[in-house]
Amino acid sequence: MTKGNIGVTTENIFPVIKKFLYSDHEIFLRELVSNAIDATQKLRTLSSVGEYKGELGDTAVEVVVDKEAGTLTVKDHGIGMTAEDIDKYINQIAFSGAEEFLTKYKDTANAIIGHIGLGFYSAFMVATKVEIHSLSYREGAEPVRWTCDGSPEYTMEAGERSDRGTDIVLHIDDDSKEFLEAARIETLLKKYCSFLPVEVRFDGKVINATEPKWMKKPTELTDADYRDFYHELYPGQDDPLFWIHLNVDYPFTLTGILYFPKIKNNFEITKNRIRLYCNQVYVTDSVEGVVPEFMMLLQGVIDSPDIPLNVSRSYLQSDAAVKKISGYITKKVSSRLEELFKADRADFEKKWDDIKIFIEYGMLSDEKFCDSAMKFMLLKDTEGRHFTADEYKELVKDSQTDKDGNLVYLYANNLESQYNYIKAATDRGYDVLMMDGQLDPHFVGLLEQKLEKTHLVRVDADIIDNLIRKEEQRSVDLTASQRNILTTLLRSQLPKVEKAEFMVTFEALSRESMPIVLTQSEYMRRMKDMAALQPNMSFFGEMPDNYNLVVNTEHPLIAKIRDAAEAAVGSSIEPLDKKIADTNAAIADIKEESDEAKQRRSDLEKEVADARAEEERIISEYAAGQDLPKQLLDLALLANGLLRGESLSAFIARSVQGMM
Ligand code: ADP
Repeated sequence: MTKGNIGVTTENIFPVIKKFLYSDHEIFLRELVSNAIDATQKLRTLSSVGEYKGELGDTAVEVVVDKEAGTLTVKDHGIGMTAEDIDKYINQIAFSGAEEFLTKYKDTANAIIGHIGLGFYSAFMVATKVEIHSLSYREGAEPVRWTCDGSPEYTMEAGERSDRGTDIVLHIDDDSKEFLEAARIETLLKKYCSFLPVEVRFDGKVINATEPKWMKKPTELTDADYRDFYHELYPGQDDPLFWIHLNVDYPFTLTGILYFPKIKNNFEITKNRIRLYCNQVYVTDSVEGVVPEFMMLLQGVIDSPDIPLNVSRSYLQSDAAVKKISGYITKKVSSRLEELFKADRADFEKKWDDIKIFIEYGMLSDEKFCDSAMKFMLLKDTEGRHFTADEYKELVKDSQTDKDGNLVYLYANNLESQYNYIKAATDRGYDVLMMDGQLDPHFVGLLEQKLEKTHLVRVDADIIDNLIRKEEQRSVDLTASQRNILTTLLRSQLPKVEKAEFMVTFEALSRESMPIVLTQSEYMRRMKDMAALQPNMSFFGEMPDNYNLVVNTEHPLIAKIRDAAEAAVGSSIEPLDKKIADTNAAIADIKEESDEAKQRRSDLEKEVADARAEEERIISEYAAGQDLPKQLLDLALLANGLLRGESLSAFIARSVQGMM
């Protein structure tokens, strides 16, 4: 029997292992089973090249839990180890490198293991004592038994094993008793070992499918195979929309299948994520940094021995190989989408509503993807027709170019509530896009950046004549006094609408246009839409909606209101107007800043305010007896769904009255 010290520079590395790998104790099982698989595959290789001449026999790897004895054993029938092998591979582990690494990454719990040979030692995260019973495949090899209780001391002696292979026996620690529960072990094996290339057994059951679909050639698989595999990965989901089979061997090795899922409810993406494998061993489903951010919405499997899987996130993101992989996946996804678009456009259009969110997210977050997606990204209009960016430009360029040569794309986000505006636009021969997706408020901005000399304007952002200005505006023909009377009159009759503010403006529209139209500034509305998506901008969300109450001065009904009001109150308003003008002039004349001057200014200001109040009183008293202004205002509000409750029933009563 030999006793010795494991080649570690630190007095006792095991507590260090325990501490740093705390969050991930369960991966010990992945490490040990992977070693067993490796040993088995090595033997198969030796056998296939004739270096091993014996029988392979049953090469399944088996995991056994003995709750009474408090042990968990991983058994294989692989190449096994001689005492020299154990000395070389287990005792002389390259701990100097490991120690350096652990020091460097001690702040990130997911420190490296397998890749620097700590794999086997991860057993000490859950065990107080570990035994190796091994018999090498080599002719005349002696069985060997190695024991270590978690200190750097080990013993190695002759073993009693008679069949080729290795058993790793873990005496499970008191605070790791969970690993003696069959259900727990089965769950872990399913998680980490479902696709391992050598049969793994537990409790009499086979855990894995040894030839996962992603390792096959795309030509060997049917659509049904891809769908079945998807359902195997994520039971209970709808069929995926598309899939992409990844298969690279230069400049890095990567295989996998990515799926575009059908997202049912709002952005439900957190649960079924892409899974990362390293040579068929499951590693993680936090793939941030490995796949481009927007592809976090995709599902499926990525398998690559080239991704340094056991390192921290920040390390991963700065890794050059990983960056290349991420870039490659982006390219592959966009070329596959383009292919699908070209091969069957009708099908692509049918799925567009479902995939739109991926593509828009991708375009918003990844410049390269954005540029290539311009070829297959679709715009849908209110009639449900789909266009590429180029096709759409062709469609509208003649009718929707304004007097300055800018293209104006109109859009709506609600067919029902914006019906009037959409109709006004389509009656003019304009086309209206449907932009009702969750990302569309952002996407509208992106399109403006990407498309040359193009503005996007929501149909209700202005009256139809102003949405796409074709000629200089006609000027409004109103005197200052008429403006004042009309503004005050309309304001006084406007019903109170919660969280809404109105500004009266005058425009000389055509006689056929409505007498009063409500519009909402594109800019303010965009700010509010964005605010709804971003919690830190809730300030904008709290602000009232601002509407323009656009009064068409060319409309006969407005002329009628103007003339009647002028006739009724003009003579009482005129002297007040004059008084206000004179008093304002007197205020402007006060130049000095003495106390007396200040007093006089404030007296005059009060006189102006009083005169204004008097005007308002006279005008609103008059307006209260008039139905027409009320009716026109209510109609404008009604067209925007803003006429509710008491105001709505007053409107109905008034309308019925008017018909009698
Ligand atoms: P790694 O697997 O990353 O090389 P490990 O510490 O897990 O690091 O294993 C060290 C070495 O010990 C392996 O490379 C292998 O040569 C040997 N080994 C471990 N487990 C077995 C096993 N079950 N059968 C044969 N050899 C093994």
